[in-house]
Amino acid sequence: MLSCLLRGGCSPRLCLWALLLLPLVSLHTLNQHGRRSHGVNERPKLLLVSFDGFRWDYINRVPTPNFHNIMDNGVIVEHVENVYITKTYPNHYSLVTGLYAETHGIVANEMYDPVLNRSFSMETDSVYESRWWEAAVPLWVSIQKAGGRSGAAMWPGSDVKIHGMFPNKYLLYNASVSFETRVERLIEWFSAPKEAAVDFGVLYWEEPDESGHNLGPESPLMDVVIAGIDEKLGFLMNELKKARLYENVNLIVTSDHGMTQLSSDKIIELDEYVSRDLYTWVDKSPVVALLPKEGKLDEIYQKLVDVNPNMVVYKKEDVPEHFHYQHNVRIMPILIAAKEGWTIMQNRTGPFMLGNHGFDNNLISMQPVFVARGPAFRKHYIKTSMRSVDLYPLMCHILSIPPLPNNGSLLNVQDLLYPEPTVSTPSPAPRVYVYSYAPVVGSFLGVAMVLGFLCFYIRQVTVKQLPSLKHRSREMSQPLLQEDLHL
Ligand SMILES: [Zn+2]
Repeated sequence: MLSCLLRGGCSPRLCLWALLLLPLVSLHTLNQHGRRSHGVNERPKLLLVSFDGFRWDYINRVPTPNFHNIMDNGVIVEHVENVYITKTYPNHYSLVTGLYAETHGIVANEMYDPVLNRSFSMETDSVYESRWWEAAVPLWVSIQKAGGRSGAAMWPGSDVKIHGMFPNKYLLYNASVSFETRVERLIEWFSAPKEAAVDFGVLYWEEPDESGHNLGPESPLMDVVIAGIDEKLGFLMNELKKARLYENVNLIVTSDHGMTQLSSDKIIELDEYVSRDLYTWVDKSPVVALLPKEGKLDEIYQKLVDVNPNMVVYKKEDVPEHFHYQHNVRIMPILIAAKEGWTIMQNRTGPFMLGNHGFDNNLISMQPVFVARGPAFRKHYIKTSMRSVDLYPLMCHILSIPPLPNNGSLLNVQDLLYPEPTVSTPSPAPRVYVYSYAPVVGSFLGVAMVLGFLCFYIRQVTVKQLPSLKHRSREMSQPLLQEDLHL
C-alpha cells in the first residue's frame, strides 16, 4: 500500500482510507491466528512406540541408522530401569501410568485375583475385563478427560474399556495386522482435521520379543531381526515425514524389557522338590507365582527355600522392598525367582524357550531401549539412566496435562527436555485477549507514522515547488500540482 502511494498509483484520498482500514484487516487476521495457535486442538503431539523386548544394547549390535538418526537429533537414555516383574503387561501399563505393578494392579501376564476369584491371562479374553485395569488410569484416558484426543495401535490394554473410556481411535488386538498398517492408521489419526486429530498416540509391535524367545538373544540370527526393526522404525519416520508430522510430533521409541539367553542345561524342575497337589501354578518362569492349597504355605516354603542355589524363594511379605512387588492381592503368597539364565518348570516336558525376561529389573539384560526426538526434546543429548516410571510425568508435561499420583518424577528426567519450557498449559482465553490488542496498537502506531510521514512529505514537496508563500493558496488548487506531487 505504501509503495502504491509512493508510485502514485492511486489517489491520496483512496490510499488514506485504505490505511485507516489496515488495522481492522490486521485485527481479523491475527485474531484468527491467535485462536489457531492456542486452541484446544493445537496441544503438543506425542507418539509413544514400543518394540516389545528390544534390549537397550541391540542398537549397537548391528547398524541401526534410524535409531541413531533419532539419537543424533534427539536424546538417548542408555540405561532404563523398568519395573518388576520385567514382563510385558506389567511394564506396558507402567509406561502409561507411572506406577509400579503392585499399584496399577497388572502384576503379571498371568494372574489370579482371590477377591474377584478370577484369573487373568494375556492369552485369553480375560484381558478385556475392565476390573483388572481400573486401579490406575492410563494416559490415553487422562488426556481425553483433559479435552484432548488419543489413538492406540494395539498397546496392551488400549482396547479395553477403562474407567468408561476407550481411546478415541484404537485397533482391536490382532497380531496378524502388520506394522505398516498400524502405522498407517496412526498417521491417519494424527492427520485428521484439527477437531478430530489425536494428540497422543501409542504403537505396539510384537518383535523382537518373539524372535528373542525363540532364537535366544545371543543367536546371530537376531542380527537380522534387529536390523528389520530398524527398518520398521525407518518406515514410521518416513510416513511421519510424508504426512508433514515429523517436525511437530514428539516421538519416543522404547520397549517394555530386554531379554536374556537361556540354556537347556539350566532348568529347575519343581516336581523334584514339592508335590503339585500342594499348590496352584499361577505364573510361570522366571518368577513363578504359587498359590498354596489351604494351610500348605509353610510346608511348600520349607520344601523349596534351600534346595536349589539357582532360585530364590520368597514369602510374599519378604519380597525385597526395592522390587515394589508386595502390596497387592494379585501377588501370590509364594514367589520363586530364577537367577539370570535359569528356567523354572514343573518338569522338562513343558515348552522351553532359548530367551526370556521377567528377571530382576536391576539386571542390565532386562533393560529396554529408549530414544526420543521432537520439539520438546534436546538434541544430541545422552543421559546415563532413568526409571521407566519417570516417563509418565515426562509425557504429561509434554502434553500439558497434570499427572495423576505416580511413582515417577519429572525432576529425574526433565534434563531430556529443552531448558526453556517448549509448551505451556493451554489457557486460550487470556492468550486470545493478549493477541487481540497487540495488532490493534501496532497497526495504529504504524498508521500514525505513515500519516505523519505523508504530511511531512506533502509539505516539503509543496513548499519546494511553490515560488513563494503568497502564491501558495492559488497554486494548490491547480490540478497540475497534484500530478507533480507524485504521491
Ligand atoms: Zn514384552
